[in-house]
Amino acid sequence: MAKYSESVERLIEEFGKLPGIGARTAERLAFHVLKSKDPEALALADAIRDAKTMIHPCRNCFNLTEQETCPICTDPRRDQSVICVVEQPKDLLAIESTGAFGGVYHVLMGHIAPLEGVGPEDLTIDALLARVRAGGVKEVILATNPTVAGDGTSLHVASLLEPCSVKITRLARGLPAGGQIEYANKSILTDALTDRRKM
Ligand SMILES: [Zn+2]
Repeated sequence: MAKYSESVERLIEEFGKLPGIGARTAERLAFHVLKSKDPEALALADAIRDAKTMIHPCRNCFNLTEQETCPICTDPRRDQSVICVVEQPKDLLAIESTGAFGGVYHVLMGHIAPLEGVGPEDLTIDALLARVRAGGVKEVILATNPTVAGDGTSLHVASLLEPCSVKITRLARGLPAGGQIEYANKSILTDALTDRRKM
């Protein structure tokens, strides 16, 4: 038998589906919503509805946007000849927050993960190839996560881009600034040595 009325149970259940939210937190959030004033609680519902109806992938780079084409793709100051390929819109935001990149992006919308049923055809790889083949692209920076799945995805994308006569690079990896060599693990140190550059 349910502990609470059906609508409360449903609210707890929906909160519980959010990433990182356990049963206890879901219950706490649900009761927070129930005891907040109507406009406050409904503002949350409206924000979710608006985000879902107004935000969609950019038709060029698949970044999330309210317009047909995202503000980065339409910004004349951005270098359209350099495309940085990321897995998720949040990776794009992280790179964007550095202010160190003046090119444009391509969001793959995930990584290849056969065990989870995600194949190359489920990502936006075809659209990336079409962008590169359309011409004007000098460099593609593969900025997938430095994980087995991310590396695998980058290798796959790189092999498809190979015949396109475009420079293919990937992000450097290695020691984080402020870190200490003695605490770095072997794979980080190996990457740092491999990716060393001239001073
Ligand atoms: Zn875009």
